[in-house]
Amino acid sequence: MLKGAGCNLLRAAAPAAARCLSTEASKRYDAIVVGLGAHGSACLYHLARWGSKVLGLDRFNSISNTKASHHGQTRITRMAYKEGPEYVPLLRKSFEMYEALERETQQKLYWQTGCVNIGEPLFSAARATADDQQLPHEVLTAQQANERFPGLQLPAHMPVLYEAAGGIVEPEKMIQAHVLRAWYHGAHVKTGETVLEWEPLPDGGVAVTTDYKTYHADKLVISSGAWMEQMVPELKGLTVPGRATVGWFQPSVPELFHHSRFPVFLLQDEEQGDPFYGFPEFGRFPGVKIGKFCVSAPPCDPDNVDREMSAADTKPLEQALRRHMPKAHGDVLNFAACMFTMTPDNHFVIDTHPRHPQVVICSACSGHGFKLSPAIGYVLADMVRHDGVCKEFEQQMQIHRLSRSRPGHAAVLDRFEQPQPQQQQQQQQHAAVGS
Ligand SMILES: Cc1cc2nc3c(=O)[nH]c(=O)nc-3n(C[C@H](O)[C@H](O)[C@H](O)COP(=O)(O)OP(=O)(O)OC[C@H]3O[C@@H](n4cnc5c(N)ncnc54)[C@H](O)[C@@H]3O)c2cc1C
Repeated sequence: MLKGAGCNLLRAAAPAAARCLSTEASKRYDAIVVGLGAHGSACLYHLARWGSKVLGLDRFNSISNTKASHHGQTRITRMAYKEGPEYVPLLRKSFEMYEALERETQQKLYWQTGCVNIGEPLFSAARATADDQQLPHEVLTAQQANERFPGLQLPAHMPVLYEAAGGIVEPEKMIQAHVLRAWYHGAHVKTGETVLEWEPLPDGGVAVTTDYKTYHADKLVISSGAWMEQMVPELKGLTVPGRATVGWFQPSVPELFHHSRFPVFLLQDEEQGDPFYGFPEFGRFPGVKIGKFCVSAPPCDPDNVDREMSAADTKPLEQALRRHMPKAHGDVLNFAACMFTMTPDNHFVIDTHPRHPQVVICSACSGHGFKLSPAIGYVLADMVRHDGVCKEFEQQMQIHRLSRSRPGHAAVLDRFEQPQPQQQQQQQQHAAVGS
């Protein structure tokens, strides 16, 4: 029997309780979802809604937490997707689903503020998708943008694409809404339980062991965010967590930056490599929020992330504000350190495990996954229902889209393709019998 990886490391670090495991073989689930963050919570919701007997597990003691990748009160949503037109069908579905979930839970989850994509290459990439998918948008000169949004002070040569549909989704509220509705539809939800290991069963099912007990199911969905490599070690080097920081700054003219007047933004500062993104004043935390897409951040250990703010964290954010929206550049009011989980091509990995078809893997971060979580949750649930077949993306999110010629990719593919020690043993036995 093959072990789902990652487990030994986790087990070594587990508390004593982990060693006294009990099984719940009688309660076999149709599916277990590991990680109730953005995508796991949405998947749990769809599975439960369709009548599956489903269990959702999260290591932290609350529904939504401040240690993974989904806290901070706001996530940008937009459709003129610089990351590529292939995302647009999923984006359309997500926008519909925001509304459906709002109706179902009687609360507002999506706030339409408009979105500006400022500077190259953001502008051209967003425009290409908008043109390709015939999405409503406006092309503005820097001067037009500055006039429409007086909080901006862009230099004359910076092009701007404005998309009215862009806005804010509230991550903690959306995760809580998905889990609550899943629960209403009969899902079992357990928080404060860390999954230590999983293993495929001879009957095609899977056993999942937490620091509390062992559960059995026909299918497993792993959506553990920054802990993906611990759950599926073959992904090492492919889904790499990196520290991401955001700051909330006190504007000198607050009324210019209220969410009724100022849009969410993506900004390419010509002097600082990775682009920035940010939000108008919104909700519980006062101030203009800005962060950097940390595409080139060094890898971090998800269990030991530095959560403290340093001058090195805030300096690039301050510089971007000072240069493009100086009236938003005041004292730091709040700060958060979070984690992006980056793939080599900044796209997602949504696939079945190449050696265990009963296991669905979802790493949809790369700094831009939240807005898509309602639709991705639907896709994951559909993959569970239809034996891992993903109709929506075909090749584009699959592990094997990776090219052996790209740095780092060959090693990942090898790990999935190489037989594990137990498999090797079985193969040798078969060979011996045959000879
Ligand atoms: C600072 C920042 C800003 C972002 N801005 C945007 C944005 O504006 N727009 C956008 O669309 N996206 C944005 N993103 C990306 C988005 O937030 C992520 O794509 C999304 O949260 C990833 O969802 P996930 O379900 O994969 O991981 P998470 O939401 O992190 O959930 C993973 C869950 O798995 C649990 N878990 C892990 N290991 C175990 C285990 N062993 N046992 C049990 N449970 C486990 C964790 O506790 C966690 O709750 C941003 C991300 C960051 C960090």
